[in-house]
Amino acid sequence: MSVATGAVTDALRELHTRYSGVGEGALADYIPPLTHADPGAFGLALISMDGHRYGVGEADVPFTVQSVSKPFVYALALSLLGLDEVCRWVNAEPSGEAFNAISLERGTGRPANAMVNAGAIVTTALVPDTPRAPRFGRILDCLSRFAGRRLDVDEEVYASEAATGDRNRALAYLIRSTGPLPVDPVAAVETYFRQCAVRVTALDLAAMAATLAHGGVNPLTGDRVVPEPVAAQVLAVMATCGMYDASGDWLLRVGLPAKSGVSGGLIAAGPARFGLAAYSPLLDAAGTSVRGRLAIGKLSERLGLHLMHNPALAGSTVTLVTTAAGLPAAPAGARERARRERVAVAAAQGALDFTAAERVLYALDEAGTGRTGAVVLDLVRVTDIDTVARAMLRGGLARLDADGRRTAVADPDGRLYAPGEETGAPRCFASREEAVAWCAETAVG
Ligand code: GLU
Repeated sequence: MSVATGAVTDALRELHTRYSGVGEGALADYIPPLTHADPGAFGLALISMDGHRYGVGEADVPFTVQSVSKPFVYALALSLLGLDEVCRWVNAEPSGEAFNAISLERGTGRPANAMVNAGAIVTTALVPDTPRAPRFGRILDCLSRFAGRRLDVDEEVYASEAATGDRNRALAYLIRSTGPLPVDPVAAVETYFRQCAVRVTALDLAAMAATLAHGGVNPLTGDRVVPEPVAAQVLAVMATCGMYDASGDWLLRVGLPAKSGVSGGLIAAGPARFGLAAYSPLLDAAGTSVRGRLAIGKLSERLGLHLMHNPALAGSTVTLVTTAAGLPAAPAGARERARRERVAVAAAQGALDFTAAERVLYALDEAGTGRTGAVVLDLVRVTDIDTVARAMLRGGLARLDADGRRTAVADPDGRLYAPGEETGAPRCFASREEAVAWCAETAVG
C-alpha cells in the first residue's frame, strides 16, 4: 500500500469507525423495496482528480441512485440544449422545500430547480427522445459515462416506484396543466422512475462526482462526458439546491456542492480536488443519509474543504523582481552594469490564472526603472497559463511596448506565445539570460 493510499484510506476509515455506530434515522419506505436495505450498511468513497480510488466499508454495495441521478441528467440536458434553453423550463432558485414539493413558479409554472422532483421530471422530459436514440438510452449512457462503467437498472425498484409513484405523476400532470412546456412531463415521469432505479455503488457515485469536479472529464477513463462550463453550472446548482430544504445549512456548514438521494446515497464534489460519496440508508427528516452527512461534514471540516474558505494563496507566483544588474550572474563592468540597471526583470512560477497574472503584472510595474527601461518576463518555471491569464499577460506586455518599453519574454515552452508566433511586440527567448542580454544590448547606458 502506498503512503497516499494509507493516509486517505485511514482518514476515511476513521470517519467510518466514528459514525458507523450512529443508529438514528429511518429507511425510506414510500418505495417499498427500499425497506429491504441493510440499515447498518455504510460505505465511503473518494476519487481524486488523478483517478485514484479509495473506498472503505460498503463502498462496493449496489443500491439505486434515486435523486443523485438529478444533477447528471441536468448535465445531459444542459449539454444538449444549453443553459438558456434549459432555464426557460427549469429555474435555478433554491426552493427551501422538500424534495417532492409542488415547487412551481407563479405565472410560468416553471419548477424552482432541477434538484427537486418537479424540476427533475421536467429536466428528464427535456432530454430528446428519438427512435435512434431513445430518451432513457441517452440517460443510461450518460450516467454510465459519469461512473466510468456500464450501469444497469434495478427492475424491482423501478416497478415498485412506477406502481406507487402517484405523487410524482400528479406533479407531472400539474406541471403540464400550468406551463407551456415543449415536452410531455407525464410521459417523461416513467423515464424519471427508471433513471432513479439505476444501480450504483458509493465508488460509482464518487467517480460521478469526481467527473463534475474534474471539469466534466471522468478521471478514471479520461472520457469527456460534458463540457467544462456544464460541469460548473451543475456544481453551482448542487451548491445552492442539492440538499433540498437543508441546502442553505449544508452550504454554510460543509461548503461543498452535494446531492442526496432517498436510498442513502450522498455525493459531494471538491472542485478540482476530488469526488466524494457516502452510502448509508438511514435518512434524516430532509431525506439525507445521516451517517453520510456526518462523515462528509466532518471530512470537510478536518481538511478545510469549505469552498468559501480563503484558499491558500499560492504565495510564490512571483519569484523575482529586480533589475538585470541585481541578477547573480551580472557582469561587473560599469557600462554593462548601467545598461543592465535599465532592464527590469520579473520571474514567475507555477500555474498562472487570473489571480497569479495580476501579481505578475503588478511585479512588472514594480520592477520598472522608469519609462524608458526594458522589461524581461521570465516564464521558465511556469507550468501552465490559462486563457484569462494569457490574455492579461499579453495585454500587459503590449501596453509596456506601447509605452516605448522594450519587452522580452523567456518562454522556452511557448506557453505565452506559440513557437514562431508573430508576437507584435515582445521578443521570445529560451532563457532569461538571452532575454536580458538582448534587452541590455540596446539599453541606453
Ligand atoms: N425516486 C425518488 C422520488 O422521486 C427520488 C427522491 C430522492 O431521492 O430524494 O421520489
